[in-house]
Amino acid sequence: MDSRESTLRHDIVWACRKLAEAGFIAASDGNVSSRLADGFYLITPSGRPKAELDVNDLIVVNDQGGVVSGSGKPSSEFRLHLLVYQKRPDVNAVVHAHPPLLTAMTLAQVPFPAEVFPEVWLTVGPVPTAPYATPSTEAVPRSVEPFLGRHNAVLLARHGSLTVGRDVRHAYYRLEKMEHAAKSLLAARLFAGNLPDPLSPEELEQLGRAFS
Ligand SMILES: [Zn+2]
Repeated sequence: MDSRESTLRHDIVWACRKLAEAGFIAASDGNVSSRLADGFYLITPSGRPKAELDVNDLIVVNDQGGVVSGSGKPSSEFRLHLLVYQKRPDVNAVVHAHPPLLTAMTLAQVPFPAEVFPEVWLTVGPVPTAPYATPSTEAVPRSVEPFLGRHNAVLLARHGSLTVGRDVRHAYYRLEKMEHAAKSLLAARLFAGNLPDPLSPEELEQLGRAFS
């Protein structure tokens, strides 16, 4: 194993622990992957509590999902991860989790309004919700596919979140920002009885100019 692979393995294990500690997953929920080399990917194993994973538990798969090294089975959502890498050459990491508030928004059928928060708008962009699909099946990538080319995050109805990034930390922190924003939305709704207004198109344009 070269030092790059070792760093990527440590990054994935770091993200798994963060996901569990933050309560973004429970038990064996969620999965994390990273692009390893041309046509090869590191991914978390299926059915294991993520907080307990060690760097040696990760699995290397090829672009068909075939196991190249590692014991156990790759995450059952490996098709979703592979589709992201296919569609987004700029993406090197994918995080799928079950964050309680973002998932609750899909249950309540409330779209996630990224355009309410300047920071979320700048660092994540618009966040669509993909229609419900049976977890772990081919239906999940199919439901998400229409959104993958243009979005850095997608909510999966009745299921959870998908965030992507240039590396594992980038993908993880996008999720952290979104779930944190969802807490503020919930609090705002409790205070005011409704969700806050989005920023206006002019304010969003100014924001884009200020940070370009
Ligand atoms: Zn899931």
